[in-house]
Amino acid sequence: MVLIDKLVICGVGLIGGSFALALREAGAVGRIVGVGRSRAPLERALELGVIDEIATGWENALDGAGFVLLAVPVGQVEAVMVAMAPHLQAQTIVSDAGSTKGDMVAAAYGHLAAHLARVVPAHPIAGAEKSGVDAANKDLYRQRRTVVTPLAENDPAAVAQVKKLWETCGAQVSEMAAREHDRVFAAVSHLPHLLAFGLVHELAGRANAELLFANAASGFRDFTRIAGSHPEMWRDICQANRQAILGELDQYLSELAYVRALLFANDGNRLEKLFEDARRARTDWGCGQVDGGGGGVAE
Ligand code: NAD
Repeated sequence: MVLIDKLVICGVGLIGGSFALALREAGAVGRIVGVGRSRAPLERALELGVIDEIATGWENALDGAGFVLLAVPVGQVEAVMVAMAPHLQAQTIVSDAGSTKGDMVAAAYGHLAAHLARVVPAHPIAGAEKSGVDAANKDLYRQRRTVVTPLAENDPAAVAQVKKLWETCGAQVSEMAAREHDRVFAAVSHLPHLLAFGLVHELAGRANAELLFANAASGFRDFTRIAGSHPEMWRDICQANRQAILGELDQYLSELAYVRALLFANDGNRLEKLFEDARRARTDWGCGQVDGGGGGVAE
Protein backbone atom coordinates (compact mmCIF):
# COMPACT_ATOMS: atom_id res chain seq x y z
CA MET A 1 0.00 0.00 0.00
CA VAL A 2 1.38 3.41 -0.95
CA LEU A 3 1.83 5.47 2.25
CA ILE A 4 3.62 8.44 0.64
CA ASP A 5 3.46 9.65 -2.94
CA LYS A 6 6.63 11.70 -2.82
CA LEU A 7 9.40 10.84 -0.37
CA VAL A 8 12.39 13.16 -0.07
CA ILE A 9 15.62 11.83 1.37
CA CYS A 10 18.17 14.44 2.39
CA GLY A 11 21.48 12.60 2.73
CA VAL A 12 21.24 9.44 0.64
CA GLY A 13 23.86 7.40 2.46
CA LEU A 14 23.68 4.21 4.50
CA ILE A 15 20.72 5.26 6.66
CA GLY A 16 18.70 7.33 4.16
CA GLY A 17 19.40 4.89 1.33
CA SER A 18 18.32 1.89 3.42
CA PHE A 19 15.08 3.67 4.40
CA ALA A 20 14.35 4.35 0.72
CA LEU A 21 15.12 0.78 -0.34
CA ALA A 22 12.99 -0.77 2.42
CA LEU A 23 9.97 1.42 1.62
CA ARG A 24 10.32 0.82 -2.10
CA GLU A 25 10.52 -2.94 -1.52
CA ALA A 26 7.31 -2.74 0.55
CA GLY A 27 5.55 -0.77 -2.21
CA ALA A 28 4.98 2.04 0.31
CA VAL A 29 6.29 4.96 -1.79
CA GLY A 30 5.51 6.49 -5.15
CA ARG A 31 8.53 8.62 -6.08
CA ILE A 32 11.80 9.01 -4.17
CA VAL A 33 13.74 12.24 -4.55
CA GLY A 34 17.28 12.73 -3.26
CA VAL A 35 18.83 15.93 -1.90
CA GLY A 36 22.53 16.01 -1.10
CA ARG A 37 25.60 18.04 -0.27
CA SER A 38 27.46 16.95 -3.38
CA ARG A 39 26.38 15.56 -6.72
CA ALA A 40 28.43 12.33 -6.92
CA PRO A 41 26.70 10.34 -4.12
CA LEU A 42 23.29 11.32 -5.52
CA GLU A 43 24.24 10.13 -8.99
CA ARG A 44 25.43 6.87 -7.49
CA ALA A 45 22.09 6.58 -5.61
CA LEU A 46 20.24 7.11 -8.89
CA GLU A 47 22.40 4.50 -10.64
CA LEU A 48 21.70 1.98 -7.85
CA GLY A 49 17.94 2.63 -8.08
CA VAL A 50 17.78 3.94 -4.51
CA ILE A 51 16.22 7.24 -5.66
CA ASP A 52 14.18 8.11 -8.76
CA GLU A 53 15.43 11.63 -9.20
CA ILE A 54 17.87 14.23 -7.93
CA ALA A 55 16.28 17.46 -6.73
CA THR A 56 17.61 20.64 -8.30
CA GLY A 57 17.08 22.50 -5.00
CA TRP A 58 14.83 22.60 -1.94
CA GLU A 59 11.96 24.36 -3.73
CA ASN A 60 11.86 21.60 -6.30
CA ALA A 61 12.39 18.84 -3.71
CA LEU A 62 9.62 19.96 -1.38
CA ASP A 63 7.01 20.65 -4.03
CA GLY A 64 4.26 18.13 -3.28
CA ALA A 65 6.41 16.18 -0.80
CA GLY A 66 4.56 14.01 1.71
CA PHE A 67 7.58 13.15 3.84
CA VAL A 68 11.18 14.32 4.23
CA LEU A 69 13.78 12.22 6.01
CA LEU A 70 16.89 14.09 7.15
CA ALA A 71 19.62 11.46 7.13
CA VAL A 72 22.66 13.72 7.24
CA PRO A 73 25.38 13.88 9.94
CA VAL A 74 23.74 15.53 12.96
CA GLY A 75 26.00 18.60 12.68
CA GLN A 76 24.34 19.37 9.32
CA VAL A 77 20.71 19.26 10.50
CA GLU A 78 20.45 22.89 11.51
CA ALA A 79 21.82 24.22 8.19
CA VAL A 80 19.53 21.85 6.29
CA MET A 81 16.48 23.11 8.22
CA VAL A 82 17.41 26.72 7.50
CA ALA A 83 17.67 25.92 3.79
CA MET A 84 14.42 23.97 3.59
CA ALA A 85 12.22 26.15 5.84
CA PRO A 86 11.12 28.74 3.22
CA HIS A 87 9.91 25.99 0.87
CA LEU A 88 8.18 23.66 3.34
CA GLN A 89 4.54 22.99 2.46
CA ALA A 90 1.83 22.49 5.08
CA GLN A 91 1.24 18.79 4.41
CA THR A 92 4.88 17.66 4.59
CA ILE A 93 6.02 15.56 7.54
CA VAL A 94 9.68 16.13 8.46
CA SER A 95 11.57 13.48 10.36
CA ASP A 96 15.19 12.52 10.84
CA ALA A 97 17.39 9.56 11.64
CA GLY A 98 20.04 11.31 13.71
CA SER A 99 21.77 9.53 16.57
CA THR A 100 21.17 12.47 18.93
CA LYS A 101 17.81 14.07 19.54
CA GLY A 102 18.24 17.12 21.80
CA ASP A 103 20.03 19.03 19.03
CA MET A 104 17.41 18.03 16.45
CA VAL A 105 14.61 19.23 18.74
CA ALA A 106 16.41 22.54 19.41
CA ALA A 107 16.97 23.07 15.67
CA ALA A 108 13.30 22.34 14.96
CA TYR A 109 12.16 24.92 17.55
CA GLY A 110 14.66 27.40 16.15
CA HIS A 111 14.07 26.99 12.43
CA LEU A 112 10.81 25.12 11.81
CA ALA A 113 8.71 26.77 14.54
CA ALA A 114 5.70 27.23 12.28
CA HIS A 115 5.75 23.56 11.31
CA LEU A 116 6.20 21.80 14.67
CA ALA A 117 2.99 19.77 14.37
CA ARG A 118 4.69 17.84 11.58
CA VAL A 119 8.32 17.61 12.74
CA VAL A 120 8.78 14.21 14.38
CA PRO A 121 12.32 13.28 15.49
CA ALA A 122 13.36 9.63 15.30
CA HIS A 123 16.44 7.42 15.57
CA PRO A 124 16.77 3.96 14.01
CA ILE A 125 18.90 1.75 16.24
CA ALA A 126 20.55 0.03 13.34
CA GLY A 127 23.52 0.74 11.22
CA ALA A 128 26.98 -0.40 10.27
CA GLU A 129 30.55 0.86 10.33
CA LYS A 130 30.26 1.25 6.56
CA SER A 131 28.84 4.46 5.21
CA GLY A 132 27.58 5.80 1.91
CA VAL A 133 24.84 4.69 -0.42
CA ASP A 134 26.78 1.61 -1.59
CA ALA A 135 26.31 0.19 1.90
CA ALA A 136 22.54 0.80 1.86
CA ASN A 137 20.49 -2.32 2.40
CA LYS A 138 16.72 -2.86 2.29
CA ASP A 139 16.89 -5.21 5.29
CA LEU A 140 18.94 -2.93 7.56
CA TYR A 141 15.99 -2.12 9.84
CA ARG A 142 14.46 -5.60 10.04
CA GLN A 143 14.22 -6.84 13.62
CA ARG A 144 15.82 -3.61 14.86
CA ARG A 145 14.37 -0.86 16.97
CA THR A 146 13.53 2.72 16.08
CA VAL A 147 13.05 5.26 18.85
CA VAL A 148 10.65 8.12 18.13
CA THR A 149 10.92 11.21 20.36
CA PRO A 150 7.74 13.20 19.60
CA LEU A 151 7.37 16.89 20.40
CA ALA A 152 4.49 18.10 22.58
CA GLU A 153 3.31 20.11 19.53
CA ASN A 154 3.15 17.07 17.21
CA ASP A 155 -0.03 16.16 15.41
CA PRO A 156 -0.73 12.54 16.51
CA ALA A 157 -1.40 11.63 12.88
CA ALA A 158 2.14 12.73 11.93
CA VAL A 159 3.64 10.65 14.74
CA ALA A 160 1.53 7.68 13.64
CA GLN A 161 2.77 8.09 10.06
CA VAL A 162 6.43 8.14 11.15
CA LYS A 163 5.90 5.00 13.22
CA LYS A 164 4.06 3.29 10.37
CA LEU A 165 6.93 3.99 7.95
CA TRP A 166 9.55 2.55 10.28
CA GLU A 167 7.36 -0.48 10.96
CA THR A 168 7.04 -0.93 7.21
CA CYS A 169 10.85 -1.03 7.10
CA GLY A 170 10.66 -3.95 9.56
CA ALA A 171 11.55 -2.04 12.73
CA GLN A 172 10.00 -2.24 16.19
CA VAL A 173 9.10 1.28 17.24
CA SER A 174 9.17 2.73 20.74
CA GLU A 175 8.85 6.24 22.19
CA MET A 176 11.14 8.16 24.52
CA ALA A 177 11.64 11.78 25.53
CA ALA A 178 14.53 13.38 23.61
CA ARG A 179 16.49 14.15 26.78
CA GLU A 180 16.22 10.60 28.06
CA HIS A 181 17.15 9.29 24.62
CA ASP A 182 20.38 11.27 24.66
CA ARG A 183 21.29 10.08 28.17
CA VAL A 184 20.60 6.44 27.31
CA PHE A 185 22.56 6.47 24.07
CA ALA A 186 25.46 8.35 25.65
CA ALA A 187 25.86 5.29 27.89
CA VAL A 188 25.28 2.41 25.50
CA SER A 189 26.41 3.78 22.16
CA HIS A 190 28.40 7.01 22.31
CA LEU A 191 30.70 5.97 25.17
CA PRO A 192 31.56 2.57 23.59
CA HIS A 193 32.42 4.30 20.31
CA LEU A 194 34.74 6.73 22.13
CA LEU A 195 36.42 3.84 23.94
CA ALA A 196 36.99 1.95 20.69
CA PHE A 197 38.34 5.00 18.85
CA GLY A 198 40.52 5.90 21.83
CA LEU A 199 42.04 2.44 22.25
CA VAL A 200 42.87 2.03 18.56
CA HIS A 201 44.28 5.55 18.41
CA GLU A 202 46.50 4.99 21.42
CA LEU A 203 47.85 1.64 20.19
CA ALA A 204 48.38 2.95 16.65
CA GLY A 205 50.59 5.72 18.02
CA ARG A 206 53.05 3.36 19.67
CA ALA A 207 56.45 2.56 18.16
CA ASN A 208 55.59 -1.16 18.05
CA ALA A 209 52.04 -0.67 16.66
CA GLU A 210 52.71 -3.01 13.73
CA LEU A 211 53.67 -5.83 16.08
CA LEU A 212 50.64 -5.19 18.28
CA PHE A 213 48.12 -5.19 15.42
CA ALA A 214 49.75 -8.28 13.86
CA ASN A 215 49.05 -10.19 17.05
CA ALA A 216 45.58 -8.81 17.78
CA ALA A 217 42.85 -11.43 17.47
CA SER A 218 39.10 -11.81 17.87
CA GLY A 219 38.80 -10.07 21.25
CA PHE A 220 40.47 -6.97 19.83
CA ARG A 221 38.39 -7.24 16.65
CA ASP A 222 35.12 -7.41 18.64
CA PHE A 223 36.02 -4.58 20.99
CA THR A 224 37.26 -2.22 18.28
CA ARG A 225 34.94 -3.02 15.35
CA ILE A 226 33.10 0.26 15.81
CA ALA A 227 36.35 2.25 15.53
CA GLY A 228 35.81 1.70 11.80
CA SER A 229 32.77 4.03 11.95
CA HIS A 230 32.47 7.32 10.09
CA PRO A 231 34.67 10.03 11.70
CA GLU A 232 32.49 13.02 10.67
CA MET A 233 29.35 11.34 11.95
CA TRP A 234 30.97 10.52 15.29
CA ARG A 235 32.54 13.95 15.70
CA ASP A 236 29.06 15.43 15.29
CA ILE A 237 27.43 12.96 17.70
CA CYS A 238 30.07 13.64 20.37
CA GLN A 239 29.67 17.40 20.05
CA ALA A 240 25.87 17.26 19.96
CA ASN A 241 25.68 15.09 23.10
CA ARG A 242 28.79 16.42 24.81
CA GLN A 243 27.41 16.90 28.33
CA ALA A 244 25.82 13.47 28.62
CA ILE A 245 28.92 11.78 27.16
CA LEU A 246 31.22 13.64 29.58
CA GLY A 247 29.09 12.32 32.46
CA GLU A 248 29.34 8.77 31.12
CA LEU A 249 33.11 9.09 30.60
CA ASP A 250 33.55 10.23 34.21
CA GLN A 251 31.55 7.26 35.48
CA TYR A 252 33.57 4.89 33.34
CA LEU A 253 36.86 6.44 34.52
CA SER A 254 35.73 5.79 38.14
CA GLU A 255 35.03 2.17 37.25
CA LEU A 256 38.44 1.86 35.60
CA ALA A 257 40.06 3.37 38.68
CA TYR A 258 38.27 0.72 40.79
CA VAL A 259 39.42 -2.09 38.47
CA ARG A 260 42.94 -0.69 38.57
CA ALA A 261 42.88 -0.60 42.36
CA LEU A 262 41.79 -4.25 42.51
CA LEU A 263 44.59 -5.21 40.17
CA PHE A 264 47.13 -3.10 42.05
CA ALA A 265 46.10 -4.86 45.28
CA ASN A 266 46.23 -8.22 43.47
CA ASP A 267 42.68 -8.84 44.74
CA GLY A 268 41.71 -11.88 42.64
CA ASN A 269 38.45 -12.54 44.51
CA ARG A 270 36.99 -9.11 43.86
CA LEU A 271 38.21 -9.10 40.27
CA GLU A 272 36.54 -12.45 39.63
CA LYS A 273 33.32 -11.26 41.28
CA LEU A 274 33.31 -8.16 39.06
CA PHE A 275 33.86 -10.31 35.95
CA GLU A 276 31.09 -12.70 37.03
CA ASP A 277 28.61 -9.87 37.57
CA ALA A 278 29.51 -8.32 34.21
CA ARG A 279 29.28 -11.65 32.40
CA ARG A 280 25.82 -12.32 33.85
CA ALA A 281 24.58 -8.87 32.82
CA ARG A 282 26.03 -9.27 29.31
CA THR A 283 24.51 -12.74 28.89
CA ASP A 284 21.08 -11.62 30.10
CA TRP A 285 21.22 -8.64 27.74
CA GLY A 286 22.16 -10.85 24.75
CA CYS A 287 19.17 -13.15 25.40
CA GLY A 288 16.74 -10.24 25.53
CA GLN A 289 17.80 -8.60 22.27
CA VAL A 290 15.35 -8.09 19.39
CA ASP A 291 17.89 -9.70 17.05
CA GLY A 292 18.86 -12.34 19.60
CA GLY A 293 22.42 -11.17 20.08
CA GLY A 294 22.83 -7.47 19.65
CA GLY A 295 25.66 -7.97 17.21
CA GLY A 296 26.44 -6.61 13.79
CA VAL A 297 25.36 -3.00 14.16
CA ALA A 298 27.27 0.17 14.78
CA GLU A 299 24.82 1.69 17.23
P1 NAD B 1 26.44 8.42 5.45
O1 NAD B 1 27.76 9.11 5.45
O2 NAD B 1 26.36 7.06 4.91
O3 NAD B 1 25.37 9.33 4.70
C1 NAD B 1 25.21 10.69 4.97
C2 NAD B 1 24.84 11.36 3.67
O4 NAD B 1 24.52 12.72 3.95
C3 NAD B 1 25.99 11.38 2.65
O5 NAD B 1 25.46 10.99 1.38
C4 NAD B 1 26.40 12.86 2.61
O6 NAD B 1 26.88 13.24 1.33
C5 NAD B 1 25.08 13.54 2.94
N1 NAD B 1 25.21 14.89 3.49
C6 NAD B 1 26.12 15.35 4.36
N2 NAD B 1 25.89 16.65 4.63
C7 NAD B 1 24.80 17.00 3.91
C8 NAD B 1 24.06 18.21 3.77
N3 NAD B 1 24.42 19.32 4.42
N4 NAD B 1 23.00 18.22 2.94
C9 NAD B 1 22.62 17.10 2.28
N5 NAD B 1 23.29 15.92 2.37
C10 NAD B 1 24.35 15.88 3.18
O7 NAD B 1 25.95 8.47 6.99
P2 NAD B 1 24.84 7.54 7.67
O8 NAD B 1 25.52 6.42 8.37
O9 NAD B 1 23.78 7.26 6.66
O10 NAD B 1 24.31 8.52 8.82
C11 NAD B 1 23.29 9.47 8.56
C12 NAD B 1 22.63 9.85 9.88
O11 NAD B 1 22.08 8.70 10.49
C13 NAD B 1 23.53 10.51 10.91
O12 NAD B 1 22.84 11.57 11.52
C14 NAD B 1 23.76 9.43 11.93
O13 NAD B 1 23.91 9.99 13.23
C15 NAD B 1 22.48 8.62 11.84
N6 NAD B 1 22.61 7.20 12.18
C16 NAD B 1 23.68 6.48 11.74
C17 NAD B 1 23.78 5.13 12.07
C18 NAD B 1 24.95 4.31 11.61
O14 NAD B 1 25.26 3.28 12.23
N7 NAD B 1 25.63 4.66 10.54
C19 NAD B 1 22.77 4.53 12.83
C20 NAD B 1 21.67 5.29 13.23
C21 NAD B 1 21.60 6.64 12.91
